[in-house]
Amino acid sequence: METKNFCQSCGMPMGAKDELFGTELDGNKSVDYCKYCYENGSFTRDVTAEEMIEICIPHVVAAEPELTSEEARKLMKEVLPGLKRWKKD
Ligand SMILES: [Zn+2]
Repeated sequence: METKNFCQSCGMPMGAKDELFGTELDGNKSVDYCKYCYENGSFTRDVTAEEMIEICIPHVVAAEPELTSEEARKLMKEVLPGLKRWKKD
C-alpha cells in the first residue's frame, strides 16, 4: 500500500525521501512530522492550530499559486484538525 507522508503538524507533503522529516531526540527521523515543525524530539513552534494555519498560508499559496489566501485558509481549516498533532480524541 502506498502511503503519502504528510506532516502531522502543518500538513506539508514530505515526500518519499526522509530529507524533510523531523528528528527525534535520539537522532532518528520522525515519520510523522517535518523538520520545520519537529526537531530533536520536540515541536519547533509552540502554536495553536489557528496560528499554524496563518503561518502555513503563505507557503501553501507559494506551492499552489492558483489558490488565494482565503482558499488556502479554508483548505488548512479542513486539513489541520484531522492531523495527529491537533486531533482531539
Ligand atoms: Zn510540519
